[in-house]
Amino acid sequence: MDEILKTAKSCRHYAMCKIDFLGSGVCASGLEKNFVSYYPQGRMILYEALAENRIPVTEKCVDIADSCNLCGKCDYQCYFLNEMRPVKVMEALKEHVENFVKNGGEIKSAKEDSILSEIQEIVGVSWATNDEAITVTYSHDLSAISDPKYPDYIVMPETKEEIASLVKLFRNKNIRYTIRGNGQNLLGFAVNEGVIIDLNRMKTIEFDEKNWLAKVGPGVTAFDLQKQAQKRGYRINAAEPAALLCGNIMCSGIMSTFSTTYGINADNFINAEFVDKDGLLFNLNDISSPNLYSYKNLQHNDSPGICISASIRLHPVTSDETGILVPFETLDKALDFIKDCAVRHIGLALGIVGAEYISTFLSPTKKMASEIKSIFTDKLNIPWLVVFIGDKYAIRAINDMGLPFFDQNLFKSLYLGLPSLKTAQWLSLVKELSDDEPYSYLKIKGFSELFETALSPSPKLYSQEVDKELIPFFEKLFSRQEMTDLVWLNMYRIMSTRLGRKKPFLPALLYLPVDKDLINEFSGKFRLIAEKHHIDNDFGFITPIDNGKRCIFEYDFFYDYNDPEEIERIRKVATEANMLIDDYSVKTGTVKGHPYVLYQGFCRKENLLYS
Ligand code: SF4
Repeated sequence: MDEILKTAKSCRHYAMCKIDFLGSGVCASGLEKNFVSYYPQGRMILYEALAENRIPVTEKCVDIADSCNLCGKCDYQCYFLNEMRPVKVMEALKEHVENFVKNGGEIKSAKEDSILSEIQEIVGVSWATNDEAITVTYSHDLSAISDPKYPDYIVMPETKEEIASLVKLFRNKNIRYTIRGNGQNLLGFAVNEGVIIDLNRMKTIEFDEKNWLAKVGPGVTAFDLQKQAQKRGYRINAAEPAALLCGNIMCSGIMSTFSTTYGINADNFINAEFVDKDGLLFNLNDISSPNLYSYKNLQHNDSPGICISASIRLHPVTSDETGILVPFETLDKALDFIKDCAVRHIGLALGIVGAEYISTFLSPTKKMASEIKSIFTDKLNIPWLVVFIGDKYAIRAINDMGLPFFDQNLFKSLYLGLPSLKTAQWLSLVKELSDDEPYSYLKIKGFSELFETALSPSPKLYSQEVDKELIPFFEKLFSRQEMTDLVWLNMYRIMSTRLGRKKPFLPALLYLPVDKDLINEFSGKFRLIAEKHHIDNDFGFITPIDNGKRCIFEYDFFYDYNDPEEIERIRKVATEANMLIDDYSVKTGTVKGHPYVLYQGFCRKENLLYS
């Protein structure tokens, strides 16, 4: 496979190219045309389909190729996350179509179709299509579980009335339809035949500050609402930045490291509105509405309808919030710490991560991530870190506990000085300053200054690791304060997609007591399942919730989407991991998890955790 096609087929489909997470701008044609086909993400699938002769050159195909001005914004975004350069694919797409036209190729027009005409009567001619260049870009994501499926029509409604009319039309004509947010459903639920209803035009945000809420349309991303909320002095509890809030709640509910304080599932919203399967409207405060606050354990749930708005809770923010990283030699000690903090209500956001993840999040390239990981584990003996966000009182409490930690300044030096971390000079400094207490050098007065001198951190140093042409952009980017601010990074979570940089991943996600034996047992058994099927795997994260009585635990399995054998093996891993969770769920009564949380994201956390 040539490099360009390989890049196209490696798109992670996380939809990060749809949000301006680097402040470098978003693909202009995507913002104008809205169909995913006009964003870099869709163009990757389109190129792949053309290169493999799976679709003809159509009218929309020519328009999509023409509308790319090779601005290069997608290179910045995609390299930051995945170390990929999609502009080469965009050039190849334009060249392919231009050559086809130059050589007198016949451009295929979309088929006349009575169903399409009826759909267009509801949403307008521009917002529904059966052109193959558009439909093919909705045919797959990188889900390991589902196979590609080719929809007949894509429709982009703008109002809830349009959605209700569409649902009635599809019900009367017995047409299958599927709702799509930003399309990164791990189980492939956003991919189907029939009609795909893409909600990305419905981006309204209405703030109601006296009631501490923001009512959002179903096309609003976590990133965009967080940005608007922050401008007004608030925060929302947000999951992946490109995930649409309504879709996220609809699927498995919103969770993040801030769930320690803000909760999960129904804790995150005040109300939500739906269009049901008959095209009728309801909201969660209607006495006759379906009870979406309940949780059905060990049962697969059907979608209750289409969520057309959610009123998201706004949380106050104080000016003294800061982030720290607390290192631990063992997972057990880290678990003791987060449980203690959660029970005592110390800190706003808490999460345990391993050395693999922290080095992946912080490093701009895969090569550097693997070098840094061995420094953390082998040289510094830091296999585990707790990411902790809190106000000045919370930080004072951690100081009172006597624990050494990397404060915000040390973190910034560590981050921008990562390339120097590899040198022996720095490591000998740490050894000289250490006594018997692990990481005691972090408590030495003046260590921060020594650390800075040893690493000479700077945006320039950090950026030396990236592709030459991208160095000036990275240098400017890392001069911005928020890019090294632990609070901002946790609020916006732009680094978490770097987790899929080596390979896409399938997470096992479960809720369970903060019980060291149980968590170690699960980790060991997940690892054995993965090793049996030769699948890369690693501990994801743990965040305490519900005052330390429970936690969220993610364990990840990595796979090559383009290797059919590996797909077979990851599917076996998924089945066995789910069976393991079921087993423990029945045995303990306190373990809950995937895949049952899907379509139950609106439930009360109490029903999920204690039913
Ligand atoms: S290079 Fe093309 S596809 Fe990439 S952001 Fe610019 S216009 Fe969009």
